[in-house]
Amino acid sequence: MTSIRAIKGFKDILPGETELFARSIGEATDIVEKEMYTFTDRSGDLLTMRPEATAAVVRAYLQHKIYAQDPIQKYYTIGPMFRRERPQKGRYRQFYQINAEIFGVASPYADVQLIVMLVELLGRLGVTDAKPHVNSLGCPACRPDYRRALLDFLASREARLCPDCLRRRETNPLRILDCKVPRCRETSLEAPELAAFLCPECRTHFDTLQQALDELGIAYVIDKRLVRGLDYYSRTTFEIQTTALGAQSAVAGGGRYDGLVKTLGGPDIPATGFAIGFDRLAEIVAAERQIEPAVPKVFIAALGAEAQARAFPWLTALNRRGIAAEMLFEDKSLKSLMKRAGKLGARHVLIIGENELAADTGQLRNMATREQTPLALERVVEELQQRFRETV
Ligand code: ATP
Ligand code: MG
Repeated sequence: MTSIRAIKGFKDILPGETELFARSIGEATDIVEKEMYTFTDRSGDLLTMRPEATAAVVRAYLQHKIYAQDPIQKYYTIGPMFRRERPQKGRYRQFYQINAEIFGVASPYADVQLIVMLVELLGRLGVTDAKPHVNSLGCPACRPDYRRALLDFLASREARLCPDCLRRRETNPLRILDCKVPRCRETSLEAPELAAFLCPECRTHFDTLQQALDELGIAYVIDKRLVRGLDYYSRTTFEIQTTALGAQSAVAGGGRYDGLVKTLGGPDIPATGFAIGFDRLAEIVAAERQIEPAVPKVFIAALGAEAQARAFPWLTALNRRGIAAEMLFEDKSLKSLMKRAGKLGARHVLIIGENELAADTGQLRNMATREQTPLALERVVEELQQRFRETV
């Protein structure tokens, strides 16, 4: 097996590629079958814009032989992903994910740790209706039995399946459980349940996970349809779902991928992780709380080149002190500068024209009260900082 290495010129940041994704995500998944952006670059290399992060993190973990120093590693990544999906609200072709991965821990407690992180994060962001959905997909020891039982069940129901599911029957029958087409959903409701086929080890893993969530007082749903879109999962899968997003209900998804490190040519090291859909998260947070647009504390209305030259360093100095300041670098009348300040919603305007320069004293106008106060230009930054201190 050839080992997959980083693309030339791409640097791994430690504490991408086609074959990698096909091998790890699975040939017969939606992502690999229809969603990847794959192209040949100028030197004839076949490249894929990464559709997800986990495969690439595993590749780096292997390439740098990190497991040899210490197999237990915890990583996070944040960045854009690319999938050629049908664009709609909450579903984009370039989107962002926040990933967390734990390598080297087989225990269900690691899965629980990740679920807790997600619940905590959403709680802190004020998202109140987020709920973990959990399932177990079994392992290579017990899943084949289930696969056979599912195929037996489907044999007499071909006529009820959508074309995608007819194809999935050959390639990836578990995905049928997850099909959104109403008739497929109805059909799969009667299908045998994976839970009844779990081997003792998978059963214990799933029971322990549930007990730990119960113990922590985390409400969750056991979701028998949660098979997820990537082949590499084993045992635990989970999703955080909300009602805030309409059809796109999953804000984060993840699970255990015990076989992936080995599949990609490494030692037999278990792993588990999640990906948060950053765009969806931002949409939920924006819907749940009113985010005030940033408004400048002070707008500097400098009239003429000399005043502009004098005032420009104040802009940087104020911003550096955390005071939101704005200025228009154009030779405009006081009237149009005031209009601009009003449009930006600036709380105060610092007026400096010829007279103010001559007197070495600017005028600070409070936009709400229209009150004007003289301000010594020598100490203008310090004065403003003093004034805004309580409100900064
Ligand atoms: P879905 O069932 O919504 O297609 P998925 O199983 O393909 O999700 P993952 O690959 O597990 O999703 O990605 C994790 C998270 O990334 C999802 O829960 C979702 O919040 C987000 N996500 C996935 N695809 C997109 C996309 N095209 N645009 C925006 N966010 C996305
Ligand atoms: Mg998807």
